[in-house]
Amino acid sequence: MYISVDDTDSMRGNCTTFLATEIIRELDDLDLIGNPRLVRLNPATPWKTRGNGSLVMRFGRGSGPKRFIGMIGDRELFCFDSCTDYEPDPQELRRRIIPIVERNHDPDFSDPGLLISKVKPSQKFYWKGVRTILDREIIDPEIERIGGLTFEIRQGRGLIGCVCGMAWRPRDSTFELLTYRPRDRWGTERIFDPESIGMMDSRYGSTFNSWEPRYHKVAMVPMTPCPVMYGLRGDSEDDLIEASKDIRTEPIDRWVVFLTNQGTDDHIIKNPKALVPDQSYALRGNVASRSRHIEGGHTIIDVETSHGLISCAAYEPSKEFRFVLDWLNEGDEVEVIGELRDVPRTLNVEKIHVISAGPESVKISNPICPICSRTMKSTGKGGKFKCKKCKTHSFEPVMGQVRRQMVPGWYEPPTAARRHLSKPLKRMGVVQPVEFVNGRS
Ligand code: ATP
Repeated sequence: MYISVDDTDSMRGNCTTFLATEIIRELDDLDLIGNPRLVRLNPATPWKTRGNGSLVMRFGRGSGPKRFIGMIGDRELFCFDSCTDYEPDPQELRRRIIPIVERNHDPDFSDPGLLISKVKPSQKFYWKGVRTILDREIIDPEIERIGGLTFEIRQGRGLIGCVCGMAWRPRDSTFELLTYRPRDRWGTERIFDPESIGMMDSRYGSTFNSWEPRYHKVAMVPMTPCPVMYGLRGDSEDDLIEASKDIRTEPIDRWVVFLTNQGTDDHIIKNPKALVPDQSYALRGNVASRSRHIEGGHTIIDVETSHGLISCAAYEPSKEFRFVLDWLNEGDEVEVIGELRDVPRTLNVEKIHVISAGPESVKISNPICPICSRTMKSTGKGGKFKCKKCKTHSFEPVMGQVRRQMVPGWYEPPTAARRHLSKPLKRMGVVQPVEFVNGRS
């Protein structure tokens, strides 16, 4: 039986992943089939709280080998990769889970949804959920088709995320080991040793987005008052469990390894027929303007694409990543990846592939007189140069080629400014050709 929950938290606190651990705690008479799943949906969804995550679990009777995937208090948590035909009673599950949702949601700022179903929704709902904006009217017939049982509070908008998250069949996937603080510590300052995270990061190459070597800063500990102590992301479940032992923090209450679609680029639409705001794209084109800097520390360039001229923005939090836009010249060929915003209509660049950087020339001197070989003087009128002696003139200064600062390759913002769904260059098997040091702040 599949269970999904979404939209229980707000900026004031709570966390739907924590609620998932509470459901797992309550259903201790059943087995977890596969890891609990943290499925990120369209990051451009206007009504998301933070990372637009939907939580999905499957419960039944496990068969075959089991894997150790967490601790909840003193209880060791296991999951099975296969299961028997037994299905728990959905009505009974609903009755047991509703009080947990009621206890663990923000009554003023959340729209919780709970979906229980033996059958998964069609896969297309995952792709719509991760790439487009959906209406409730599209979701409801699918819930009916699969015979899902639901529970909702307020508008129940969370059911959109429940359906789309449950519909995920991983094509690419990663893991996140989430640790949680005891309830009496929620909202207080988190105590941890940053150096232990830096050392863990260099020891375990299969982890990602934990540490920012450029600034020597931790990226895996949230700043919000939510119950999470840290989230450790990576490609290997075993490595995450080992690596977490090296991270020194205040005592934690529980931890669980989730299967996720984070770091997969699943939200990116390639070769779009048309561009719709609040969706994310990969677009190829030629740079059509030098960068301009706008208030707030943001940097913009224009790129001529097959969909017309698109303004592409690197925002202040992306720090040195903005240099990439500064170093591009008109004519350079790029592939920009990011979310299209409606007003102002800009592509918020989350990764850029500089495919080719053309030659760049600078003025070396004023023109040389073809008769006397002396350097001409500027007349100060319309870029005209003149030889005083021979009265010859020219508009063309002597130009020479310079070495471009821009090196073709892939560039990405620092860890803290990345989207959950963005595939890190590390996972793409590429290395940024230039690291920006001594950068702007
Ligand atoms: P957190 O990451 O902190 O758990 P969140 O960012 O996931 O919070 P929610 O509070 O879950 O934010 O709100 C997201 C809301 O958007 C949910 O109601 C969900 O159903 C809805 N939603 C998610 N994806 C889409 C989509 N593609 N189209 C329309 N609504 C969506």
